[in-house]
Amino acid sequence: MIYCVEDEKNIRELLVYTLEATGFSAKGLEDGKCLFKALEKETPELILLDIMLPGEDGYTVLKKLKSEPETKDIPVILVTAREAEFDKVRGLDGGADDYVTKPFGMMEFVARVKAVLRRCGRQAEQKELSCGKLHIFVNRREVYLGDEKLELTRKEFELLQYLTENKGVVMSRNQILGHVWGYDFDGETRTVDVHVRSLRQKMKDAGEMLETVRGVGYRIKE
Ligand code: CA
Repeated sequence: MIYCVEDEKNIRELLVYTLEATGFSAKGLEDGKCLFKALEKETPELILLDIMLPGEDGYTVLKKLKSEPETKDIPVILVTAREAEFDKVRGLDGGADDYVTKPFGMMEFVARVKAVLRRCGRQAEQKELSCGKLHIFVNRREVYLGDEKLELTRKEFELLQYLTENKGVVMSRNQILGHVWGYDFDGETRTVDVHVRSLRQKMKDAGEMLETVRGVGYRIKE
């Protein structure tokens, strides 16, 4: 969720429309008051904050956001009418992650939003899978067994992710091949067995979580 705080209706709608067309969910808010009300309901991944707002201006809203523990980690991009009017010290030293100057191209705008989200490690969907002491951080492509990080190949990772997403359910070799290698993969189901074996070795004691179901396929035991 991205909150767009902007008092000019046309720009606000354009921002929301552009973000939604890019696959984000976004909500337009008229001023700081509406923003703080919305923050009580949901914490967004990012706030776009216009500087010239009725009531409290963007700098004041930013200062408030950064002074509260619940909101201080939300990335903020300031939106300014003219670069000359923008007080970088108040903006960037005040804790904003970036700023854009109106009028801006929508492609550039989306690129800036994505860059800030990436930098702040808050991708639109933070995905984490767990099963017992196994933890998979999908976006970071990291796998931990307790405190120990596993070094997996790309296919081992995808195989483990797929089985963990379906934990408890037996997945056939063909299902696994189709999902991890792609349905047009021109190879044999033995490929799956080879990867399961190496994955188990890397998981050491926890390798027994990865169960062979004879004649059917594999599953991650819950
Ligand atoms: Ca404005």
